[in-house]
Amino acid sequence: EAKVSGKNALRFFDPRMQQAVQERLHLENEIRQGLKNGEFILHYQAQLEQSQGIVGAEALVRWLHPQRGLLAPGAFISQAEHAGLIQALDQRVLEQACAELALWAEQPALAQLTLSVNLSANLLYEDNFVGSLLELLESSGANPARLKLELTETLLLDNMPEAIARMTQLKNHGIRFSIDDFGTGYSSMSYLQQLPLDQLKIDQSFVRGLPEDTNSLTIVRATCALAAGLNLEVIAEGVESEAQRAMLLANGCHRFQGYLFGKPLALGAFEQMVMADRAERQASRS
Ligand code: C2E
Ligand code: MG
Ligand code: MG
Ligand code: MG
Repeated sequence: EAKVSGKNALRFFDPRMQQAVQERLHLENEIRQGLKNGEFILHYQAQLEQSQGIVGAEALVRWLHPQRGLLAPGAFISQAEHAGLIQALDQRVLEQACAELALWAEQPALAQLTLSVNLSANLLYEDNFVGSLLELLESSGANPARLKLELTETLLLDNMPEAIARMTQLKNHGIRFSIDDFGTGYSSMSYLQQLPLDQLKIDQSFVRGLPEDTNSLTIVRATCALAAGLNLEVIAEGVESEAQRAMLLANGCHRFQGYLFGKPLALGAFEQMVMADRAERQASRS
């Protein structure tokens, strides 16, 4: 609470601080406006399986800002969280993802693709999250089994019982779950037994150290062993070099995502990439 007099007032009216506050409010209003104007779009980054090629994509949100151009999530996600706008943003992302899955289902070359969507805690724990997601799947015509939700350890540990209940309901409809940035969050692993998971995603901070760094390698190996033992899929993010890919493969990770295979792309470019991948595989087989 600002006092109009006294020492506190001086701090409150510090012009730099006031400017920061104004910039924040301005950005929040822009996000609100952007949601109304449909300025948030998806880019798609390929996920590959060693022998099958491109098996899916991760949907990564981008802001087509009217003045500043294409912005990555680092420029607005945390602000959207603080402003209570992340639910609306994630909802918009889910809508676009489901619409895309429904369109892919009608094209043979794209029909088998899975689409991973990042979810914030705010949305998972919203009152009617399960109901509204099931409704969205129904109305869009998307196959729930093609949708994968990426959750972080920290998000899940916020409220484990609730997370288990909600995930189980969605899982019963075929929706899959991946732990994003695995290994960077909470240290206890007991939650892995309790959650209806499908995939662990090795964080790029561990991939970055490969092939030389032995600590990174130890963590990668342990994660792959854990995934195998728990019957979960494992995928590595941030794969940038052939040496990293080879090292991951040699240690039990057969799925990859990263600049080595492709940057996040606009829809059309991603679809072309999948078509080219399919054609290449077809050609090398015959
Ligand atoms: P994330 O889910 O861990 O996504 C991976 C990030 O690594 C993406 O950054 C991706 O562009 C980047 N990346 C992919 N391959 C490579 C690589 O080979 N090298 C390097 N250095 N980076 C790579 P991006 O798109 O900037 O997204 C950042 C984060 O924003 C995401 O991290 C995710 O946590 C969050 N995010 C993205 N989309 C959404 C969304 O729709 N909703 C929410 N709540 N969060 C989102
Ligand atoms: Mg992710
Ligand atoms: Mg990640
Ligand atoms: Mg990450």
